[in-house]
Amino acid sequence: MSKTRLLGKTPAQLKEIAASCGLPSYTGGQIAQWMYQKKVRSLDQMTNLSKAARERLSQDYEVGVTEPTEVFTSADGTRKYLFPITFEGRPPFTVEAVMIPDEDRRTLCVSSQAGCKMGCKFCMTGRQGFHGNLSAADILSQFIAIEESDDLSNAVFMGMGEPLDNYEEVMAAINVLTADWGFAWSPKRITLSSIGVLPRLKDYLEGCKCHLAISLHNPFADERLEMMPVQKAYPLEKVIDLLRQYDFSGQRRVSFEYTMFRGFNDDKRHADALVRLLRGVHCRVNLIRFHKIPDFPYGTSPDPVMEMFRDRLGAAGVTCTIRASRGEDIFAACGLLAGKHNTA
Ligand code: SF4
Repeated sequence: MSKTRLLGKTPAQLKEIAASCGLPSYTGGQIAQWMYQKKVRSLDQMTNLSKAARERLSQDYEVGVTEPTEVFTSADGTRKYLFPITFEGRPPFTVEAVMIPDEDRRTLCVSSQAGCKMGCKFCMTGRQGFHGNLSAADILSQFIAIEESDDLSNAVFMGMGEPLDNYEEVMAAINVLTADWGFAWSPKRITLSSIGVLPRLKDYLEGCKCHLAISLHNPFADERLEMMPVQKAYPLEKVIDLLRQYDFSGQRRVSFEYTMFRGFNDDKRHADALVRLLRGVHCRVNLIRFHKIPDFPYGTSPDPVMEMFRDRLGAAGVTCTIRASRGEDIFAACGLLAGKHNTA
């Protein structure tokens, strides 16, 4: 029988585990320190636990860091790590974490699910279908097991999967990242990106201080629905209505991701509709170059069109930037994750 992973658990949960093994409850706090502050990979390395305590715990538990099986480095320094995620009785599924260096920043783009059930037409992950949720341990492994672990400045939940569709585990991981007893990151270092799963979005806004990015991609409901089935269950207008109830002018920010598809969502009509839609929301819009994928009718908008779009939003008072594309040569750019490594 496989062992239970300790990674992702709170000190309170670890204390209960310690007590259930007949160990003093402060052992739980010690384990948390070893895992989250010293980032050790095994119980054996927790040298202030007695040998007997380590042996007792090892019978049923392990730290549970998943190590990457491969790493690819892009010409621009972006690094993509492949992690094998195991689901009971099935062959491992590969998920990806991408480390993006930029001057003095090191941003980790994290995966939250193996595949995705949201079915966005432009996304390679969506095409793979859904294979399972990552556990908090799987998510935290992406932070711990990469070479740049101690140098990370930021994290974005923008890798494979819809994070709000795996709410409990994503929040457990964010809790470890931001707690004083955990990694002690400020919530300002973390951005969660979602296509707008409304019920969970409300929970997230109520319960978490991290930033939010919404995948918008089209201001017109009928056109958005063509690309994003989620539009039917959770219309964008309702998502924006919900966001209007929160203040994004202080510590927490909201941004909107807008992938530019040539001839589909990139003309003045779209820019003007976007301005109307976002009126009164303190936000930023990020324009993203689309990376062509097989059997998809659209390419990316040419640079002059993207610049026109950006300037039109800017002139109407909406802060807008064109996001630099990174890691395209190792299939690490937006929308390309999982393009190469899973055949399922
Ligand atoms: Fe899922 Fe995000 Fe891809 Fe949509 S864009 S299918 S939500 S991973």
